[in-house]
Amino acid sequence: MSQFTFDTIGLIRSPYKEKFAIPRQPGLIEDGGGELELIAPYNQPEAVRGLEAFSHLWIVFVFHQTMDGGWRPTVRPPRLGGNARMGVFATRSTFRPNPIGMSLVELKSIETKGGKVILKLGSLDLVDGTPIIDIKPYLPFAESQPQARGGFAQDAPLADMHVSFSDVAQQQIQQHQQRYPHLQRFIQQVLAQDPRPAYRKGESEDRIYAVHLLDFNVRWQVKNGITEVIDLNSV
Ligand code: SAM
Repeated sequence: MSQFTFDTIGLIRSPYKEKFAIPRQPGLIEDGGGELELIAPYNQPEAVRGLEAFSHLWIVFVFHQTMDGGWRPTVRPPRLGGNARMGVFATRSTFRPNPIGMSLVELKSIETKGGKVILKLGSLDLVDGTPIIDIKPYLPFAESQPQARGGFAQDAPLADMHVSFSDVAQQQIQQHQQRYPHLQRFIQQVLAQDPRPAYRKGESEDRIYAVHLLDFNVRWQVKNGITEVIDLNSV
């Protein structure tokens, strides 16, 4: 047997509506949580019985937005500035022989109402609509390895871009305070990772970037090494 077919068992609802600016791993920022909704015939409360006792889960998913891009034996990890090449299996690149990803995420709660099974999740690294093919509880006794070596990814990636907000952006954030109490912190932490492509980082800085986060098109600019959020408009 050399080919397999898997079913989508659930879908992710995430604040990241496009790939651009998504953190490279889960848990890198405080906000950015979402939901995993199981789909029929897997949306049975029995299928998650006992799961609520685990604080973290592995979710296994398909990189559905890049899966048509194929794979190469070496890739250029953004973490190495986009120059050095590493073997695909030494990286978490989305362009893999089988476009499968796995993320360790916090499980906040489980809702099983009205024929739905919804897992509420902490900080994600997945785009909205990502198809899930499996869920497994994280087993700290076997999987926590504090002494492990992390290769070229030993330390958390830098997220040290200074982010300021224009007056307009601050007023707009204020208007959505009730629905999104941590909106400013969320945007700040996403942009502090400097999601611009590596080859743009040295360029002169007139370019305006935009990304769809939550219900907003967020626009920003980098000037003298500082990110300024220009505005955010409802999409
Ligand atoms: N934690 C997972 C892993 O290690 O397998 C994913 C790591 S991968 C580097 C995370 C990146 O994948 C995100 O920053 C985003 O750009 C991209 N991504 C997220 N969801 C995706 C999807 N459904 N299809 C393609 N790319 C996706």
